Amino acid sequence: MIEKFADIEMLRYHVDGFEELSLKYKKFIYCLSEAALSGRDILFDQNGAYNLRIRRTLEAIYIHSTSNKSSENFLAMETYLKRIWFSSGIHHHYGCEKFIPEFTKDFLKQEMLSIDAKLLPLQEGESAKELFELLDPIIFDPEIMPKRVNKSQGEDILTTSACNYYQGVNQNKAEEYYNNLKESGGDTPISFGLNSRLVAEEGQLVEKIWKVGGLYSKAIEKIIYWLQKAIKYAEDDTQQTIIQTLINYYRTGDLRTFDEYSIQWLKDTNSFVDFTNGFIETYGDPLGLKASWESIVNYKDLEATHRTEIISKNAQWFEDHSPVKEAFKKKKVKGVSAKVITAAILAGDLYPSTAIGINLPNSEWIRALHGSKSVTISNITAAYNKASRHNGFMEEFVYSDQEKELIDKYSNLTDELHTDLHECLGHGSGQLLPGISQDALKAYGSTIEEARADLFGLYYIADTKMIELGLLPDENAYKAQYYTYIMNGLMTQLVRIKPEHQIEEAHMRNRQLIARWAYEKGRGENVIEFINRDKKTYIKINNYSALRDIFGQLLAEIQRIKSTGEYESAQSLVEDYAVKVDQTLHLEVLERYEKLKLSPYKGFINPVYNKIKDNEGNVCDITVSYDESYTDQMLRYSSDYSYLPSINE
Ligand code: ZN
Repeated sequence: MIEKFADIEMLRYHVDGFEELSLKYKKFIYCLSEAALSGRDILFDQNGAYNLRIRRTLEAIYIHSTSNKSSENFLAMETYLKRIWFSSGIHHHYGCEKFIPEFTKDFLKQEMLSIDAKLLPLQEGESAKELFELLDPIIFDPEIMPKRVNKSQGEDILTTSACNYYQGVNQNKAEEYYNNLKESGGDTPISFGLNSRLVAEEGQLVEKIWKVGGLYSKAIEKIIYWLQKAIKYAEDDTQQTIIQTLINYYRTGDLRTFDEYSIQWLKDTNSFVDFTNGFIETYGDPLGLKASWESIVNYKDLEATHRTEIISKNAQWFEDHSPVKEAFKKKKVKGVSAKVITAAILAGDLYPSTAIGINLPNSEWIRALHGSKSVTISNITAAYNKASRHNGFMEEFVYSDQEKELIDKYSNLTDELHTDLHECLGHGSGQLLPGISQDALKAYGSTIEEARADLFGLYYIADTKMIELGLLPDENAYKAQYYTYIMNGLMTQLVRIKPEHQIEEAHMRNRQLIARWAYEKGRGENVIEFINRDKKTYIKINNYSALRDIFGQLLAEIQRIKSTGEYESAQSLVEDYAVKVDQTLHLEVLERYEKLKLSPYKGFINPVYNKIKDNEGNVCDITVSYDESYTDQMLRYSSDYSYLPSINE
């Protein structure tokens, strides 16, 4: 059921355990999901002033055209429309550049003139021909609105960006406007400009606030309608208050109320069902002030959360038994139990392309004073893993069926467990000697720190304690993690590095450091072997238990470096093992990867929630289904959640 177009691959995620939830939870999730879907048009308009008109025009043609739907032009328009749905606009969701349509202007004009004009998003008095003439350059001229977000040095980044956060305002004016406001902020400064469009009107700068009665009012009213319905099903007073504060914020647009809401929200870590709905991330604004609209509804992944609780409860045992020198161990260690969640619906800037973890709120002063809430989304990660297992990647790079079987059987579990050990124990383990500064290792600090956490996980995932605690089924499971880790660190992660470049990013450096060091250390006993078969390089691990000992030795050494703050040792480890790339191997890996023709970007189709009614018409159950296609989902959303006018001023 996986669909591909342009550089995109669509996946599905499953909401495991939804069926078993109580009816009250199901209704709660349903109402919050409706609130999430109700904001869809907002992001289209934020991403560009013509996006809604273009989307609606193409959808009308797509549905109502009577011409040949398998013509080259029609198929090219279909792909273009799929890309617009994916990006919520006419620019690439990641690279921000405008799509180049592969259908002709004449085709578009013909289609627009031949369908019933009533189906087009025409303004009063506007003809189909006039709408075509308006949209023609926006769609076809590469010089017009070439980028959604332009950050090029030396250009006015506002007037050259196509996003719809500023109108008639240049960079200097906008910066001056917000700098003046900032000075009035004090110790708890609100995020000025977060929820508004800045517009020049008759020489004056005016903020048009996104709220009830302001911009995007129609969609926001629908969001509020569903949030109000949701309140009834909230778990307790605390959660009711949180939702009520959010509603108040949407009504008034007052950013102080938004801060109040954010603080209430981050403190609520008990609720089983949780959600965000609002103007959150600011990547879409060249100045980084204005937030795009997004929503995610989720509930606790009880199984995974149970796993992190077991690990955290045993944190002291792990610390005491680690291969690290006593002086570098924590006498009293506290594990962190990270919350793992199941996403139930994705919307706005989290749909169809989404993050795999969330750490909010973004406001600096709130984070400093009150902290933040951090979660990982397990069903999204699982969907990514599953997709990467059947796309030819493993078949290309894994040495033999034996390793492939290990990976198929265990690596969903061992991947997650390794992440849990890394996050819940690894970063929190060990101690600095008295007087050693936190940042003694300077630029090498983050690579060493990530290596320390990864090694803690690698060392313990092979421990029989894992089986004893019920975290792994048997003594072979850890081998899946060892194999994929070493293969990735020595070879396959290089697909992300351009030819002739070195490794810069800390996590990638850490992985190569560990894999290369282990390879060198075990060379005498042939623990890890490079094998050349049919002119292709493969990794083979000959002795898994020896590899565990090597991980233990490196963990002890890395902890020593961290605890003593020995800059030179950190420097030589990183420079010798983590940075340089074997050019020949690198080119080979890139060439093999290229042949797989994998889509670099992925997105997710949402599940569909269906209300089941009893004879009296009361909702007695909500079921979930996964059979809706990408196109059907997008067309349904456009028909059922199309709350904004085509022009929003
Ligand atoms: Zn980490």
